[in-house]
Amino acid sequence: MNFVSKRILATPVLLSRKSLQKIVFALAAILFISANLGHAQGLLGAVPPRTLNPDAGLSVILLGTGIPLPNAARATACTAIIAGERVFLVDTGRNCVVSLAAAGLRRVDGIFYTHYHSDHFIGLGEILLNLGIAGVDASIPVRGPIGAKEVVEGIIATYRLDLKYRLDHHGEKFSDNIMKPTVTEHEPGLVFDDKGLRVTMFKVCHPPIEPAVGYRFEYRGKIAAVSGDTQVCPDYAEGARGADLLVSEAVNSQLFAPAQALVGRSNPRQAEMIAEGIEYHADTLALATMAQEAGVKKLAITHLMPSIPPNDTAEAQFIQGMSELYDGPIVVGRDGMEISLSD
Ligand SMILES: [Zn+2]
Ligand SMILES: [Zn+2]
Repeated sequence: MNFVSKRILATPVLLSRKSLQKIVFALAAILFISANLGHAQGLLGAVPPRTLNPDAGLSVILLGTGIPLPNAARATACTAIIAGERVFLVDTGRNCVVSLAAAGLRRVDGIFYTHYHSDHFIGLGEILLNLGIAGVDASIPVRGPIGAKEVVEGIIATYRLDLKYRLDHHGEKFSDNIMKPTVTEHEPGLVFDDKGLRVTMFKVCHPPIEPAVGYRFEYRGKIAAVSGDTQVCPDYAEGARGADLLVSEAVNSQLFAPAQALVGRSNPRQAEMIAEGIEYHADTLALATMAQEAGVKKLAITHLMPSIPPNDTAEAQFIQGMSELYDGPIVVGRDGMEISLSD
């Protein structure tokens, strides 16, 4: 075989190697780029920070609509009240920090607690830690009925080592102020009055839990009330009276019935606890009657018991019969749902 023919024979092999190298290089580049794109998307994953308009009115974001029983689609009790550019939270339940990020909220100007069942406060540490990592240097004001100091001090105590590690590692970039909320305990009545926002704490009925309260937020002529955990009772009705929006917990005992019957045979202790749980929450039909009588203009349901999946069928079942007792719109809450009161 002469040189030319060798070359002719060899050329396709050489070309294949080059092509292979090119393909390998291209694949590596694609993998590298997509890995980094994924990383970038991960960083951005949480929606970019929301621009809050200082001239905007009152709005509400349901950040946590679940209960202690795990439901991947629902954080536990947490509601954001946005007044202009200020953001306040009513309760800080499990995974509230995830919903906050998903809503693009990067600031918290104050926290109001309704009571101290753990599904209403357990997410506080995560929220403060993430604000600290975001470079926030402030002591967040926390308000609640008696018990707030004990609960917040307990959570902060569990972060003592974490805070030490972060201060050792990051120095002054991580502010220890963020892990020292300013806690004040209040009796029902006006608990906050600043730059046109008035917040009134009202008593609710969650026996045997004492104290248990809800809040009314009044801003630019609109009222949003948040129930906390409660049965329907006269104190709750007074707190909700005339609200443009009532964010209320609710239980549909009918939906519990099959589960109760099933559990009752195999686990009577659990069945009894379910029955006791139903008793100290707001029955959907009683809530509809109360909202009608109290002149509530719009009702948003949160803290849904049972913790239904966020779909139309389950939601229609949950509020079955309510519209026959209440004339206003009923919103069945899903995490991230936003309700503006400006219009
Ligand atoms: Zn609860
Ligand atoms: Zn409770």
